[in-house]
Amino acid sequence: MSDTQPTVRLRETLASVPAYKAGKPAAPREDLVTYKISSNENPYPPLPSVVQVVADAAARMNRYPDPAVRALTEALADRWGVTPDEVTTGTGSVGVLGTLVQITCDPGDEIVYAWRSFEAYPIVAALADAKSVQVPLDSQAKHDLDAMAAAITDRTRLVIVCTPNNPTGPSLGDDELRAFLAKVPSDVLVVIDEAYLEFVEPDKQLDALAIYRDHPNVCVLRTFSKAYGLAGLRVGYCIAHEPVAEALRKAALPFGVSDLAQLAAVASLEAYDELQERVDALMTERSRVADALAEQGWEIPESQANFVWLPLGDDALAFAAAADQEGLVVRPFDGDGVRCSIGEVEANDRLIEVCREFRTR
Ligand SMILES: *Cc1c(COP(=O)(O)O)cnc(C)c1O
Repeated sequence: MSDTQPTVRLRETLASVPAYKAGKPAAPREDLVTYKISSNENPYPPLPSVVQVVADAAARMNRYPDPAVRALTEALADRWGVTPDEVTTGTGSVGVLGTLVQITCDPGDEIVYAWRSFEAYPIVAALADAKSVQVPLDSQAKHDLDAMAAAITDRTRLVIVCTPNNPTGPSLGDDELRAFLAKVPSDVLVVIDEAYLEFVEPDKQLDALAIYRDHPNVCVLRTFSKAYGLAGLRVGYCIAHEPVAEALRKAALPFGVSDLAQLAAVASLEAYDELQERVDALMTERSRVADALAEQGWEIPESQANFVWLPLGDDALAFAAAADQEGLVVRPFDGDGVRCSIGEVEANDRLIEVCREFRTR
């Protein structure tokens, strides 16, 4: 054995933690502009008003941020008509989700969620030594809520509902979600992960906060990373009832949300009308891409988020390689499909072309 072999003992559960495959940056090319459409980021640069606030705050980074995140918590409470006590923040909504697992699951407890869904779910579960119970999506790439309800056991401590679902795109309606919740034991916490909430068409929108008000075991997880365009600053939040919110505050990473992130999030809430125009433009682009693909003969699930899902099965990696040739970095899931974010108009044009060529190859 080489003497550089690690001898420290690490937790056994780490062996089952899938490594997070981050979206690769697009490698610069001389012949064409490349686009990264693999991480569902907002393609627009931050608003000048938000950049200004962050630039001013940069001069104070020798100081810790407000640990109570007061201004942002109050702005969010105000925006959503809840009390500040019901709002907790974290380093991205993935940070908050990790804390939700910590406060609900002992080793061996179960977390029920749909699959395929967000890549972070199996990671946060495995890190806590909780057991992932993955319930296959239905034939429309949508949550199979009946099967999810049936998968709940007396070891279930957490259920995650992702709507719209990453990476497939469909969203859930009020009635089906309420019918599902009626079957969930009242001591099991249900997280509604609404990372793409702002991209849902008005007639498809779920009133997650009304559902939250009616169910003491429901909480709502949201982020500034997608519609608000603050992915690089790491700030997300959860709207939760006591004692869940109280437990989240106890378990949160101290000073996890930087001063820059707190201020940028407040400024973004204030500038939301301006951001909404961008979200609307992205939704228009999403329709344009979906229509073009339908015209080419693709059958893809209806996306209510800022990406489209190509159910390519065993061709997923080949498609990603073909896209890469054309300067597009997409997100393939081997053997399953490819998620392509809606990006700049030119990136979307190129995606449509790559899809056309791939079908006729
Ligand atoms: C992008 C995304 C998030 C947000 O992650 P952050 O940590 O807030 O950047 C949460 N849930 C889902 C399903 C996502 O796709």
